[in-house]
Amino acid sequence: MDLSRFARRRYTEGATPLHPLPRLSAALGPEAPEIWIKRDDLLGLAPGGNKTRKLEFLVADALAQGADTLVTCGAPQSNHCRITLAAAVREGLRCRFVIEERVPGSFREDASGNHFLFRLMGVEDLVVVPAGSDMAAAMQRVADELAATGRRAYVIPGGGSNALGGLGYVACAQELQQQCFELGVQFDDVVVGSGSSGTHGGLLAGFLGNRIALPITGIGVSRDPAEQEPLVWHEAQAVCDLLGLGLTVPREAVVSVGGYWQPKYSLPNARMVEAVQLLARTEAILLDPVYTGKVMAGLVGLVREGRWRRGQRVLFLHTGGLPSLFGSEAVLLGRAGVPR
Ligand SMILES: *Cc1c(COP(=O)(O)O)cnc(C)c1O
Repeated sequence: MDLSRFARRRYTEGATPLHPLPRLSAALGPEAPEIWIKRDDLLGLAPGGNKTRKLEFLVADALAQGADTLVTCGAPQSNHCRITLAAAVREGLRCRFVIEERVPGSFREDASGNHFLFRLMGVEDLVVVPAGSDMAAAMQRVADELAATGRRAYVIPGGGSNALGGLGYVACAQELQQQCFELGVQFDDVVVGSGSSGTHGGLLAGFLGNRIALPITGIGVSRDPAEQEPLVWHEAQAVCDLLGLGLTVPREAVVSVGGYWQPKYSLPNARMVEAVQLLARTEAILLDPVYTGKVMAGLVGLVREGRWRRGQRVLFLHTGGLPSLFGSEAVLLGRAGVPR
């Protein structure tokens, strides 16, 4: 599929690594499938993650529209906000955030992790709004304020998950297809985090458009399947429509798994802690407590339930999130009580 008609900035050189995780696979027992990883945590932009791919298309559009400021939103410790800021810095743009305090009292400006990086990379301004606020309206207010002073904002939705942002994961699907061809390897399933859904939905659109017959299992990081799957379906359909594929996304192609994100988005649980420790101690690969730790907990849980057989190959997509490891030390070392 030809993506070259869409303007794109490049923030990563070449493809992200794709390799097996033999020590993790062995630790999961003799009946476990072979687990592989695609290292989208090694994408560009200080440090990169899945938002890097979406921003390649979104920022190209912002520049084409003559914007001087990127405006976006997220929860406290948002990786998406931090990577958007990094892209703005790289492009000589300014950047503002609207932060939704989903857990009341959780935004501390002087916190470690991503908050430290917001200040270090010089966010121009941020406003904190209560849980349940209309984020699109709040970002539009910021854009209007800027317009009143002669500036031009480009508003990026939460997680960069609109049709244009989803193209980043169509590009990832094509990159993965090429890597599988070069390595002579085939997978039986891909496990991805499923949040604002640009990653899951974009990848699905890329698989459909490229006729890649590989199932995707999304692990919900904030919603169980009844709520998450319609969101992913809409994102995948919007991306297919933007590509002009002329197809309807089959509802059964959208598969997500719940039960691993509780008690609440961004709050720790014991299975997440186990997964973060397991990957650190078997493969020296660092996950994060909000997203990839819970997604890996889901993968481990599904292996233990026997979802895949020995001899099958399962690919884990590492979507980044490194900075939020810092600030959760006691929890991740097992020195603070967390719910099961
Ligand atoms: C945003 C994010 C996700 C979720 O991706 P969506 O495209 O929003 O579904 C997963 N992992 C990390 C590290 C993230 O920052």
